[in-house]
Amino acid sequence: MFQVTRAKLNVTAADHISAEAKLATINALVCTRCGYGHLGKPEDPEPKDHVCDHCGEPFTPESRVNELYRIETVETKVRERISVNDEERQRQGYDIITTYRFLPGPGGGPEKEEADVTTGNRVIARLTYSQSASLWRINRGWTRRKDKNQLGFHINPLTGQWSKEEPDGEEDENGEAKENKVASQRIVPFVEDRRNILIVTPPENTMEKEAMATAQAALKRGIEQTFQIESAELIVEALPSPGDRRSLLLYEAAEGGAGVLSRLASDPSQLAQVARAALSLMHYEVTDGPVSSSVLKDMAGAEAGSGAIPCEAGCYQCLLSYFNQPDHAIINRRNAEAVSFLAALANATVQPLQRVKSSSVQDCDNNVTTPLDQWLATLSSQGLRQPDKVKVPVNGGEAHADALYQASRALVFLSPPTETVFAYARDRGFTVITFPSDASSWPDLFAQHPSIFGTSPANS
Ligand SMILES: [Zn+2]
Ligand SMILES: [Zn+2]
Repeated sequence: MFQVTRAKLNVTAADHISAEAKLATINALVCTRCGYGHLGKPEDPEPKDHVCDHCGEPFTPESRVNELYRIETVETKVRERISVNDEERQRQGYDIITTYRFLPGPGGGPEKEEADVTTGNRVIARLTYSQSASLWRINRGWTRRKDKNQLGFHINPLTGQWSKEEPDGEEDENGEAKENKVASQRIVPFVEDRRNILIVTPPENTMEKEAMATAQAALKRGIEQTFQIESAELIVEALPSPGDRRSLLLYEAAEGGAGVLSRLASDPSQLAQVARAALSLMHYEVTDGPVSSSVLKDMAGAEAGSGAIPCEAGCYQCLLSYFNQPDHAIINRRNAEAVSFLAALANATVQPLQRVKSSSVQDCDNNVTTPLDQWLATLSSQGLRQPDKVKVPVNGGEAHADALYQASRALVFLSPPTETVFAYARDRGFTVITFPSDASSWPDLFAQHPSIFGTSPANS
Protein backbone atom coordinates (compact mmCIF):
# COMPACT_ATOMS: atom_id res chain seq x y z
CA MET A 1 0.00 0.00 0.00
CA PHE A 2 1.19 3.45 -0.88
CA GLN A 3 -0.17 6.70 0.35
CA VAL A 4 0.19 9.89 -1.64
CA THR A 5 1.70 12.47 0.63
CA ARG A 6 2.87 15.22 -1.62
CA ALA A 7 2.25 16.66 -5.05
CA LYS A 8 5.41 17.64 -6.86
CA LEU A 9 4.86 21.22 -7.82
CA ASN A 10 6.04 22.26 -11.23
CA VAL A 11 8.69 24.88 -11.67
CA THR A 12 6.53 27.66 -13.04
CA ALA A 13 4.20 27.25 -10.09
CA ALA A 14 7.11 27.40 -7.68
CA ASP A 15 8.23 30.64 -9.31
CA HIS A 16 4.81 32.04 -8.81
CA ILE A 17 4.88 30.97 -5.20
CA SER A 18 7.82 33.08 -4.13
CA ALA A 19 5.89 36.23 -4.90
CA GLU A 20 2.45 35.44 -3.53
CA ALA A 21 2.75 32.15 -1.66
CA LYS A 22 -0.08 30.79 -3.80
CA LEU A 23 -0.26 28.24 -6.58
CA ALA A 24 -1.57 29.52 -9.89
CA THR A 25 -4.88 27.81 -10.63
CA ILE A 26 -7.36 27.86 -13.50
CA ASN A 27 -11.16 27.81 -13.64
CA ALA A 28 -13.39 25.58 -15.72
CA LEU A 29 -16.94 25.26 -16.96
CA VAL A 30 -18.11 21.67 -17.31
CA CYS A 31 -21.39 21.26 -19.19
CA THR A 32 -24.05 19.90 -16.84
CA ARG A 33 -25.75 18.20 -19.77
CA CYS A 34 -23.00 16.50 -21.79
CA GLY A 35 -19.93 16.87 -19.59
CA TYR A 36 -17.89 18.76 -22.20
CA GLY A 37 -15.03 20.71 -20.62
CA HIS A 38 -14.11 24.35 -21.09
CA LEU A 39 -10.90 25.04 -19.19
CA GLY A 40 -9.03 28.26 -18.73
CA LYS A 41 -5.34 28.45 -19.51
CA PRO A 42 -2.50 29.23 -17.11
CA GLU A 43 -2.05 32.61 -18.81
CA ASP A 44 -5.80 33.24 -18.98
CA PRO A 45 -7.44 31.29 -16.15
CA GLU A 46 -11.09 32.14 -16.84
CA PRO A 47 -12.91 30.32 -19.70
CA LYS A 48 -14.80 32.75 -21.92
CA ASP A 49 -17.67 30.54 -23.12
CA HIS A 50 -21.33 31.14 -22.27
CA VAL A 51 -22.83 28.00 -23.76
CA CYS A 52 -21.42 24.52 -24.22
CA ASP A 53 -19.27 24.16 -27.33
CA HIS A 54 -20.50 20.62 -27.85
CA CYS A 55 -24.25 20.63 -27.15
CA GLY A 56 -25.15 24.32 -26.88
CA GLU A 57 -26.50 24.07 -23.32
CA PRO A 58 -26.12 27.34 -21.36
CA PHE A 59 -23.84 27.08 -18.31
CA THR A 60 -25.28 27.18 -14.79
CA PRO A 61 -23.57 27.86 -11.45
CA GLU A 62 -23.21 24.06 -11.14
CA SER A 63 -21.05 24.03 -14.30
CA ARG A 64 -18.30 25.90 -12.53
CA VAL A 65 -15.17 24.31 -11.07
CA ASN A 66 -12.72 26.88 -9.73
CA GLU A 67 -9.14 26.70 -8.45
CA LEU A 68 -8.09 23.77 -10.56
CA TYR A 69 -4.49 22.74 -10.25
CA ARG A 70 -2.88 20.21 -12.55
CA ILE A 71 -0.99 17.44 -10.78
CA GLU A 72 1.79 15.92 -12.83
CA THR A 73 3.71 13.81 -10.35
CA VAL A 74 3.21 12.82 -6.76
CA GLU A 75 5.37 11.42 -4.00
CA THR A 76 4.20 8.42 -2.09
CA LYS A 77 5.26 6.70 1.04
CA VAL A 78 4.82 3.04 1.90
CA ARG A 79 2.17 2.38 4.48
CA GLU A 80 2.38 -0.95 6.25
CA ARG A 81 -0.97 -0.72 7.80
CA ILE A 82 -4.17 0.89 6.65
CA SER A 83 -6.34 1.98 9.53
CA VAL A 84 -10.08 1.38 9.71
CA ASN A 85 -10.45 5.08 9.19
CA ASP A 86 -8.43 4.98 5.96
CA GLU A 87 -10.42 2.02 4.74
CA GLU A 88 -13.66 3.82 5.42
CA ARG A 89 -12.41 6.79 3.46
CA GLN A 90 -11.47 4.62 0.51
CA ARG A 91 -14.88 3.06 0.55
CA GLN A 92 -16.59 6.42 0.54
CA GLY A 93 -14.25 7.45 -2.15
CA TYR A 94 -13.67 10.64 -3.98
CA ASP A 95 -16.06 12.76 -5.99
CA ILE A 96 -14.27 12.46 -9.31
CA ILE A 97 -15.65 13.67 -12.59
CA THR A 98 -14.16 13.20 -16.01
CA THR A 99 -14.53 15.89 -18.61
CA TYR A 100 -13.35 15.87 -22.21
CA ARG A 101 -12.77 18.06 -25.19
CA PHE A 102 -12.29 17.13 -28.84
CA LEU A 103 -8.97 18.32 -30.20
CA PRO A 104 -9.00 20.24 -33.47
CA GLY A 105 -8.93 18.01 -36.54
CA PRO A 106 -7.15 18.63 -39.85
CA GLY A 107 -9.88 21.07 -40.98
CA GLY A 108 -9.68 23.10 -37.77
CA GLY A 109 -13.05 21.88 -36.47
CA PRO A 110 -13.38 19.46 -33.54
CA GLU A 111 -12.09 15.96 -34.31
CA LYS A 112 -15.21 13.81 -34.04
CA GLU A 113 -17.54 11.56 -35.94
CA GLU A 114 -21.12 10.80 -35.09
CA ALA A 115 -23.34 7.83 -35.74
CA ASP A 116 -26.91 6.91 -34.95
CA VAL A 117 -27.81 3.54 -33.52
CA THR A 118 -31.12 2.64 -35.07
CA THR A 119 -33.70 -0.11 -35.17
CA GLY A 120 -36.24 0.36 -37.94
CA ASN A 121 -36.51 4.13 -38.07
CA ARG A 122 -36.14 4.62 -34.33
CA VAL A 123 -32.92 6.16 -33.00
CA ILE A 124 -32.04 4.39 -29.76
CA ALA A 125 -28.66 5.98 -29.14
CA ARG A 126 -26.16 8.43 -30.55
CA LEU A 127 -22.48 7.57 -30.78
CA THR A 128 -19.82 10.25 -30.78
CA TYR A 129 -16.31 9.05 -31.52
CA SER A 130 -13.17 11.12 -31.38
CA GLN A 131 -9.79 9.75 -32.26
CA SER A 132 -8.16 12.61 -30.45
CA ALA A 133 -9.60 14.13 -27.31
CA SER A 134 -8.28 15.68 -24.12
CA LEU A 135 -9.50 14.01 -20.96
CA TRP A 136 -9.37 15.63 -17.58
CA ARG A 137 -10.07 13.75 -14.37
CA ILE A 138 -11.03 16.21 -11.68
CA ASN A 139 -11.13 15.29 -8.00
CA ARG A 140 -13.77 17.54 -6.49
CA GLY A 141 -13.16 16.30 -2.94
CA TRP A 142 -14.42 13.59 -0.65
CA THR A 143 -17.78 12.18 -1.76
CA ARG A 144 -19.13 12.70 1.75
CA ARG A 145 -17.83 16.19 2.38
CA LYS A 146 -20.18 18.27 4.47
CA ASP A 147 -20.51 21.21 2.12
CA LYS A 148 -21.11 19.90 -1.40
CA ASN A 149 -20.36 23.30 -2.91
CA GLN A 150 -16.95 23.46 -1.30
CA LEU A 151 -14.67 21.63 -3.74
CA GLY A 152 -11.10 20.44 -3.42
CA PHE A 153 -8.41 19.83 -0.85
CA HIS A 154 -5.95 21.87 1.16
CA ILE A 155 -2.36 21.84 0.09
CA ASN A 156 0.75 23.56 1.33
CA PRO A 157 1.62 25.72 -1.68
CA LEU A 158 5.34 25.66 -0.85
CA THR A 159 5.94 21.99 -0.21
CA GLY A 160 3.05 20.38 -2.10
CA GLN A 161 2.08 18.49 1.03
CA TRP A 162 -1.62 17.74 1.41
CA SER A 163 -2.93 19.08 4.68
CA LYS A 164 -5.93 17.79 6.54
CA GLU A 165 -6.95 20.94 8.25
CA GLU A 166 -8.49 24.22 7.31
CA PRO A 167 -6.17 27.11 6.47
CA ASP A 168 -4.27 28.43 9.47
CA GLY A 169 -5.12 25.29 11.45
CA GLU A 170 -3.10 24.94 14.60
CA GLU A 171 -2.54 21.23 14.16
CA ASP A 172 0.89 20.12 13.24
CA GLU A 173 0.89 16.35 13.18
CA ASN A 174 4.26 15.94 11.54
CA GLY A 175 5.93 18.11 14.10
CA GLU A 176 6.94 20.64 11.47
CA ALA A 177 8.54 23.76 12.79
CA LYS A 178 5.96 26.50 13.07
CA GLU A 179 7.97 28.95 10.99
CA ASN A 180 7.72 26.60 7.98
CA LYS A 181 3.98 26.84 8.08
CA VAL A 182 2.32 28.71 5.28
CA ALA A 183 -1.38 29.29 4.99
CA SER A 184 -2.68 26.24 3.16
CA GLN A 185 -4.45 26.77 -0.12
CA ARG A 186 -7.57 25.01 -1.33
CA ILE A 187 -7.14 23.50 -4.80
CA VAL A 188 -9.08 21.09 -6.97
CA PRO A 189 -6.49 18.66 -8.32
CA PHE A 190 -6.77 17.27 -11.83
CA VAL A 191 -4.78 15.16 -14.25
CA GLU A 192 -4.78 15.47 -18.01
CA ASP A 193 -4.51 12.88 -20.77
CA ARG A 194 -5.10 12.36 -24.47
CA ARG A 195 -7.20 9.47 -25.68
CA ASN A 196 -9.53 8.28 -28.34
CA ILE A 197 -12.99 8.25 -26.80
CA LEU A 198 -16.47 6.98 -27.55
CA ILE A 199 -19.60 8.50 -26.05
CA VAL A 200 -22.87 6.56 -26.04
CA THR A 201 -25.95 8.69 -25.46
CA PRO A 202 -29.45 7.24 -25.18
CA PRO A 203 -32.33 9.65 -25.95
CA GLU A 204 -32.71 12.16 -23.14
CA ASN A 205 -34.84 11.29 -20.11
CA THR A 206 -35.36 7.69 -21.17
CA MET A 207 -33.20 5.96 -18.57
CA GLU A 208 -33.08 6.32 -14.80
CA LYS A 209 -29.86 6.28 -12.83
CA GLU A 210 -30.13 2.55 -12.04
CA ALA A 211 -30.72 1.70 -15.68
CA MET A 212 -27.72 3.78 -16.79
CA ALA A 213 -25.44 2.24 -14.14
CA THR A 214 -26.57 -1.22 -15.23
CA ALA A 215 -26.12 -0.48 -18.93
CA GLN A 216 -22.67 0.94 -18.11
CA ALA A 217 -21.57 -2.26 -16.39
CA ALA A 218 -23.21 -4.42 -19.07
CA LEU A 219 -21.61 -2.67 -22.06
CA LYS A 220 -18.21 -2.78 -20.38
CA ARG A 221 -18.46 -6.53 -19.79
CA GLY A 222 -19.94 -7.09 -23.26
CA ILE A 223 -17.05 -5.26 -24.92
CA GLU A 224 -14.45 -7.10 -22.84
CA GLN A 225 -15.98 -10.40 -23.84
CA THR A 226 -16.48 -9.57 -27.52
CA PHE A 227 -12.99 -8.18 -28.05
CA GLN A 228 -11.20 -10.37 -25.51
CA ILE A 229 -9.68 -7.53 -23.54
CA GLU A 230 -8.87 -7.31 -19.83
CA SER A 231 -11.19 -5.47 -17.49
CA ALA A 232 -8.46 -2.98 -16.58
CA GLU A 233 -7.97 -2.04 -20.24
CA LEU A 234 -11.35 -0.40 -20.73
CA ILE A 235 -12.82 2.42 -18.67
CA VAL A 236 -16.48 3.35 -18.84
CA GLU A 237 -17.74 6.37 -16.92
CA ALA A 238 -20.97 8.26 -16.53
CA LEU A 239 -21.37 11.73 -18.05
CA PRO A 240 -21.77 14.43 -16.93
CA SER A 241 -21.26 12.84 -13.47
CA PRO A 242 -22.08 9.70 -11.47
CA GLY A 243 -24.88 11.67 -9.84
CA ASP A 244 -26.49 12.63 -13.16
CA ARG A 245 -26.01 9.92 -15.76
CA ARG A 246 -26.95 10.93 -19.29
CA SER A 247 -24.19 9.41 -21.40
CA LEU A 248 -21.48 6.81 -21.14
CA LEU A 249 -17.88 7.78 -21.81
CA LEU A 250 -15.64 4.95 -22.98
CA TYR A 251 -11.87 5.07 -23.28
CA GLU A 252 -9.03 2.63 -23.25
CA ALA A 253 -6.58 2.69 -20.37
CA ALA A 254 -3.55 2.65 -22.63
CA GLU A 255 -3.01 5.40 -25.17
CA GLY A 256 -3.69 4.04 -28.64
CA GLY A 257 -5.39 0.99 -27.15
CA ALA A 258 -6.72 -1.94 -29.12
CA GLY A 259 -8.77 0.10 -31.56
CA VAL A 260 -11.96 -1.27 -30.07
CA LEU A 261 -13.78 2.04 -29.87
CA SER A 262 -13.37 3.11 -33.48
CA ARG A 263 -14.71 -0.25 -34.59
CA LEU A 264 -17.77 0.11 -32.38
CA ALA A 265 -18.41 3.55 -33.85
CA SER A 266 -18.01 2.55 -37.49
CA ASP A 267 -18.98 -1.10 -37.84
CA PRO A 268 -22.74 -1.48 -38.42
CA SER A 269 -23.18 -4.65 -36.33
CA GLN A 270 -20.39 -4.75 -33.74
CA LEU A 271 -22.33 -2.88 -31.06
CA ALA A 272 -25.23 -5.29 -31.49
CA GLN A 273 -22.86 -8.18 -30.85
CA VAL A 274 -21.60 -6.48 -27.71
CA ALA A 275 -25.18 -6.08 -26.46
CA ARG A 276 -25.93 -9.73 -27.16
CA ALA A 277 -22.79 -10.77 -25.26
CA ALA A 278 -23.81 -8.51 -22.38
CA LEU A 279 -27.32 -9.97 -22.11
CA SER A 280 -25.90 -13.45 -22.21
CA LEU A 281 -23.43 -12.59 -19.42
CA MET A 282 -26.37 -11.23 -17.44
CA HIS A 283 -27.73 -14.79 -17.38
CA TYR A 284 -30.33 -14.30 -20.11
CA GLU A 285 -30.78 -16.83 -22.84
CA VAL A 286 -29.92 -15.13 -26.10
CA THR A 287 -30.97 -17.15 -29.12
CA ASP A 288 -30.20 -16.45 -32.76
CA GLY A 289 -32.36 -13.83 -34.46
CA PRO A 290 -33.92 -10.69 -33.04
CA VAL A 291 -33.89 -10.21 -29.26
CA SER A 292 -37.10 -9.27 -27.47
CA SER A 293 -36.79 -7.99 -23.91
CA SER A 294 -40.27 -9.27 -23.06
CA VAL A 295 -39.47 -12.91 -23.78
CA LEU A 296 -35.85 -13.07 -22.61
CA LYS A 297 -35.47 -16.15 -20.47
CA ASP A 298 -33.66 -15.68 -17.16
CA MET A 299 -31.21 -18.54 -16.79
CA ALA A 300 -29.71 -17.51 -13.42
CA GLY A 301 -29.41 -20.50 -11.15
CA ALA A 302 -30.59 -22.71 -13.99
CA GLU A 303 -27.08 -23.78 -14.92
CA ALA A 304 -28.34 -27.21 -14.04
CA GLY A 305 -27.23 -29.00 -10.94
CA SER A 306 -23.98 -27.07 -10.74
CA GLY A 307 -24.89 -25.82 -7.31
CA ALA A 308 -24.48 -22.29 -8.67
CA ILE A 309 -25.84 -19.60 -6.42
CA PRO A 310 -28.77 -17.89 -8.13
CA CYS A 311 -27.96 -14.33 -9.10
CA GLU A 312 -30.44 -11.65 -8.04
CA ALA A 313 -29.40 -8.12 -9.00
CA GLY A 314 -25.88 -9.00 -10.01
CA CYS A 315 -22.89 -11.15 -9.18
CA TYR A 316 -19.19 -11.25 -9.94
CA GLN A 317 -19.88 -13.54 -12.90
CA CYS A 318 -22.07 -10.96 -14.55
CA LEU A 319 -22.09 -7.22 -13.82
CA LEU A 320 -20.18 -6.70 -10.59
CA SER A 321 -16.45 -6.11 -10.55
CA TYR A 322 -13.79 -4.59 -8.38
CA PHE A 323 -13.86 -1.54 -10.67
CA ASN A 324 -17.51 -0.69 -10.27
CA GLN A 325 -17.78 -1.09 -6.50
CA PRO A 326 -19.25 2.38 -5.94
CA ASP A 327 -22.14 1.38 -8.25
CA HIS A 328 -22.89 -2.04 -6.75
CA ALA A 329 -25.94 -0.77 -4.87
CA ILE A 330 -27.61 0.51 -8.03
CA ILE A 331 -26.58 -2.14 -10.55
CA ASN A 332 -29.49 -4.46 -11.26
CA ARG A 333 -29.42 -6.93 -14.12
CA ARG A 334 -33.23 -7.12 -13.93
CA ASN A 335 -33.74 -3.40 -14.39
CA ALA A 336 -36.42 -3.30 -17.10
CA GLU A 337 -35.15 -0.10 -18.78
CA ALA A 338 -31.61 -1.44 -18.96
CA VAL A 339 -32.68 -4.81 -20.32
CA SER A 340 -34.91 -3.24 -22.94
CA PHE A 341 -32.13 -0.81 -23.95
CA LEU A 342 -29.67 -3.69 -24.37
CA ALA A 343 -32.23 -5.74 -26.28
CA ALA A 344 -32.82 -2.79 -28.61
CA LEU A 345 -29.05 -2.42 -29.11
CA ALA A 346 -28.83 -6.13 -29.87
CA ASN A 347 -31.18 -5.59 -32.83
CA ALA A 348 -29.69 -2.29 -33.92
CA THR A 349 -27.44 -1.02 -36.67
CA VAL A 350 -24.82 1.69 -36.36
CA GLN A 351 -25.20 4.27 -39.09
CA PRO A 352 -22.41 6.83 -39.39
CA LEU A 353 -23.87 10.26 -40.04
CA GLN A 354 -22.91 11.90 -43.25
CA ARG A 355 -19.93 14.18 -42.82
CA VAL A 356 -20.33 17.60 -44.31
CA LYS A 357 -17.86 18.03 -47.11
CA SER A 358 -18.40 20.90 -49.46
CA SER A 359 -16.42 19.11 -52.19
CA SER A 360 -18.72 16.09 -52.22
CA VAL A 361 -21.82 18.23 -52.56
CA GLN A 362 -20.90 19.06 -56.14
CA ASP A 363 -20.91 15.38 -56.98
CA CYS A 364 -24.57 15.17 -55.99
CA ASP A 365 -25.61 17.77 -58.53
CA ASN A 366 -26.55 15.34 -61.26
CA ASN A 367 -28.25 12.95 -58.96
CA VAL A 368 -30.20 14.91 -56.36
CA THR A 369 -32.25 12.53 -54.28
CA THR A 370 -33.26 14.10 -50.96
CA PRO A 371 -34.37 17.64 -50.10
CA LEU A 372 -31.23 17.94 -47.94
CA ASP A 373 -28.97 17.05 -50.86
CA GLN A 374 -30.79 19.56 -52.98
CA TRP A 375 -30.54 22.22 -50.29
CA LEU A 376 -26.81 21.64 -49.79
CA ALA A 377 -26.31 21.72 -53.54
CA THR A 378 -28.16 25.04 -53.71
CA LEU A 379 -25.89 26.52 -51.03
CA SER A 380 -22.93 25.33 -52.96
CA SER A 381 -24.08 26.63 -56.32
CA GLN A 382 -24.87 30.05 -54.78
CA GLY A 383 -21.49 30.23 -53.06
CA LEU A 384 -23.09 30.27 -49.59
CA ARG A 385 -21.82 28.96 -46.29
CA GLN A 386 -22.08 25.21 -45.64
CA PRO A 387 -23.52 24.07 -42.27
CA ASP A 388 -21.26 22.66 -39.56
CA LYS A 389 -23.42 19.58 -39.23
CA VAL A 390 -26.36 17.94 -40.94
CA LYS A 391 -29.13 15.75 -39.48
CA VAL A 392 -28.65 17.04 -35.98
CA PRO A 393 -30.78 15.43 -33.25
CA VAL A 394 -32.90 17.92 -31.29
CA ASN A 395 -34.27 17.33 -27.82
CA GLY A 396 -32.55 13.99 -27.40
CA GLY A 397 -33.46 12.69 -30.84
CA GLU A 398 -37.16 13.64 -30.79
CA ALA A 399 -36.56 15.27 -34.13
CA HIS A 400 -33.65 15.98 -36.44
CA ALA A 401 -32.80 19.41 -37.71
CA ASP A 402 -31.53 19.17 -41.27
CA ALA A 403 -28.61 21.48 -40.64
CA LEU A 404 -26.80 23.30 -37.86
CA TYR A 405 -24.75 26.48 -38.04
CA GLN A 406 -22.76 26.44 -34.85
CA ALA A 407 -21.36 29.94 -34.65
CA SER A 408 -24.66 31.66 -35.40
CA ARG A 409 -26.67 29.11 -33.40
CA ALA A 410 -29.10 28.46 -36.23
CA LEU A 411 -31.04 25.30 -36.99
CA VAL A 412 -32.43 24.64 -40.45
CA PHE A 413 -35.50 22.49 -41.05
CA LEU A 414 -36.59 21.41 -44.51
CA SER A 415 -39.93 20.29 -43.17
CA PRO A 416 -41.71 22.20 -40.37
CA PRO A 417 -40.70 21.04 -36.85
CA THR A 418 -43.34 20.29 -34.22
CA GLU A 419 -44.27 23.02 -31.75
CA THR A 420 -42.35 21.21 -28.95
CA VAL A 421 -39.21 20.93 -31.01
CA PHE A 422 -39.51 24.52 -32.12
CA ALA A 423 -39.95 25.71 -28.52
CA TYR A 424 -37.08 23.52 -27.31
CA ALA A 425 -34.70 25.01 -29.86
CA ARG A 426 -35.88 28.58 -29.34
CA ASP A 427 -35.59 28.31 -25.53
CA ARG A 428 -31.95 27.36 -26.01
CA GLY A 429 -31.28 30.43 -28.06
CA PHE A 430 -31.35 28.87 -31.53
CA THR A 431 -32.65 30.70 -34.54
CA VAL A 432 -34.97 28.26 -36.30
CA ILE A 433 -35.34 28.62 -40.05
CA THR A 434 -37.82 26.45 -41.90
CA PHE A 435 -37.41 26.13 -45.65
CA PRO A 436 -40.55 25.32 -47.65
CA SER A 437 -40.42 22.40 -50.07
CA ASP A 438 -40.64 24.80 -53.02
CA ALA A 439 -36.97 25.44 -53.77
CA SER A 440 -37.68 28.60 -55.76
CA SER A 441 -38.26 30.52 -52.51
CA TRP A 442 -34.95 29.43 -50.97
CA PRO A 443 -32.76 32.23 -52.37
CA ASP A 444 -35.01 34.79 -50.65
CA LEU A 445 -34.65 32.99 -47.33
CA PHE A 446 -30.89 32.81 -47.74
CA ALA A 447 -30.81 36.53 -48.46
CA GLN A 448 -32.82 37.30 -45.31
CA HIS A 449 -30.14 35.69 -43.10
CA PRO A 450 -26.76 36.86 -44.37
CA SER A 451 -25.20 36.40 -40.91
CA ILE A 452 -25.94 32.69 -41.12
CA PHE A 453 -25.57 31.77 -44.78
CA GLY A 454 -23.23 34.51 -45.94
CA THR A 455 -23.89 36.52 -49.06
CA SER A 456 -24.17 35.00 -52.48
CA PRO A 457 -21.58 36.46 -54.85
CA ALA A 458 -24.38 36.51 -57.47
CA ASN A 459 -26.36 39.03 -55.40
CA SER A 460 -23.54 41.28 -54.24
ZN1 LIG B 1 -22.80 20.23 -23.40
ZN1 LIG C 1 -24.96 -12.67 -12.02
